[in-house]
Amino acid sequence: MSNLNTQDQPEAIVHGYVAQDVSEQAVKEGADVTLTSLFKKEEMTAAEQEVNDAMHEGVTILNGVMPVKIEKDDNNRATAIIVAECEMEDNVPKPVKGTEKRIEADLIVSAIGQTPDIDGLEDMGNEKGFFEVDNFYRHKTKEGHFVAGDIIRPHLLTTAIGQGSIAADSIKSYFENNDFKRRPKVDVHHFNLLEKLRETDLNPDEYKASEAPDELRGSDQSTAVVHNFEDRSAHEVIPSTELFLGHFKHEDRVKRGEAVPQGDDVIDNFEDRIIGLTEEEAIKEASRCMSCGMCFECDNCVIYCPQDAVFRVKKDKSTMGRYVDTDYDKCIGCHICADVCPTGYIKMGLGE
Ligand code: SF4
Ligand code: SF4
Repeated sequence: MSNLNTQDQPEAIVHGYVAQDVSEQAVKEGADVTLTSLFKKEEMTAAEQEVNDAMHEGVTILNGVMPVKIEKDDNNRATAIIVAECEMEDNVPKPVKGTEKRIEADLIVSAIGQTPDIDGLEDMGNEKGFFEVDNFYRHKTKEGHFVAGDIIRPHLLTTAIGQGSIAADSIKSYFENNDFKRRPKVDVHHFNLLEKLRETDLNPDEYKASEAPDELRGSDQSTAVVHNFEDRSAHEVIPSTELFLGHFKHEDRVKRGEAVPQGDDVIDNFEDRIIGLTEEEAIKEASRCMSCGMCFECDNCVIYCPQDAVFRVKKDKSTMGRYVDTDYDKCIGCHICADVCPTGYIKMGLGE
């Protein structure tokens, strides 16, 4: 970056941002910004829209280049960066000789890095510079210190938010001198079908084996087994080929708008570039089919089954929200219910 105001603190521009965000933010502050990337434009890891917005706002992007040298002045401040075109060999960039280019700069920001900077906090870091914590996000060796985020282990933003939430509870308990409550891991979902059934008084009876050896056995009428439940947690969004598209009216997607200024208007323009949906638009968008693959109680299967094999589950017998069930004594496997099901909910699995 160059052309920074002398009274600006460069760190105020850089802090907390990476690559695309750093460059866009610096342009708004009045800097001339060149962003270099190892990759071709179409291979850059940033979203295409972000790349286009940055260029639209006046960021110069040099693709397919790598830094090879930093020039410094007598005060040890960086004054220029030398970049060269590069070729990838086993994902490692190699400079192409004779392609070097010098870019003068007042500030050079390295926007990639997963190494902690713990200057002043050295006593809290392990040999790799990360902080070690217990399940309550208490620092393991520094009493009264709580930690969350990438300094424990580089991971997702949502992970850091979850850790921060637990750390906040822990800090509260610490100040109130309360015991720390045991808690489940952040990212583990516990589901227990029998517990859920017990909550709605639908728990199955105890199984009693028949004492009459000739009695016809089977579980379809037994109250000791769970009927009308299937675990669909592994199912994902249904592809359009599995939907009965004739059921759906075409609805255009409600897209968010953009207000990306031209390079000339970008300085001091801190307005949002992406315009969020209004409440009305958000409801309209959420009302479109999301291909979730779940039953939305349209009754098609009940109406079209030629055998009257599909029936609505009585409300007080419905387990985990299942709306329809099939009487397999009547079903002849004609497939009509699956064909007319708009959502792809009915799978003809023949028992496997
Ligand atoms: S396969 Fe045919 S008979 Fe069986 S439930 Fe579906 S529509 Fe009815
Ligand atoms: S299973 Fe399919 S066809 Fe049957 S009610 Fe649900 S969405 Fe409609």
